[in-house]
Amino acid sequence: MSHKYPDSMEELVTLFKTLPGVGRRSAERIVLSIQKWPAEKTKRLAVLLNEMPDRIGKCPECANFAMDGALCSICASPSRDPSIVCIVEDSSQIQNIENSGMFKGKYHVLGGKISPLQGRELSELNVPSLKERIQKGAIREVVMAFSFDIEGQATAACLAEILKDMNVKITRLARGLPVGSDISYVDSATIAAALSGRTGME
Ligand SMILES: [Zn+2]
Repeated sequence: MSHKYPDSMEELVTLFKTLPGVGRRSAERIVLSIQKWPAEKTKRLAVLLNEMPDRIGKCPECANFAMDGALCSICASPSRDPSIVCIVEDSSQIQNIENSGMFKGKYHVLGGKISPLQGRELSELNVPSLKERIQKGAIREVVMAFSFDIEGQATAACLAEILKDMNVKITRLARGLPVGSDISYVDSATIAAALSGRTGME
């Protein structure tokens, strides 16, 4: 195969092509666009990418994205209500719930959902630190914000079972989210409605 671009550009195209939703043509367009950037901007991008593996990790409290081992911006914020915690599958869902503007509490990232088919159990998820947080006593309510698919709802049911003796109110998002929907992609108005209409889990 003859190379259309210099080797390093070709390698960049190959890397960008592995991003979600980016095909060969889009990857080429991205690389050609970066190639036109001022040197300062390109070097800043390189610095940020270079730091990423070492500096971006998990918040020690909620497992959201955080920098340098510190608390995430939500856990660190004094204006967030520590008595209500929204449990999500992944950090990527937090931004979408934040966009709804309806939630003023804190979060807990479970790191996935149980999957009988893939043999993934609740014990593999970030549950012990959630129990620890509840045991500290500041949390009055946990809101299960899982996707409305079989795995998401099974996770909510298992988790509710584990937390039921922990003196904390357990609620879940109101029905109204489309069946099978992933919280990451639901529009903010729908999330806002599901949050305000949340119901207790018995
Ligand atoms: Zn946090």
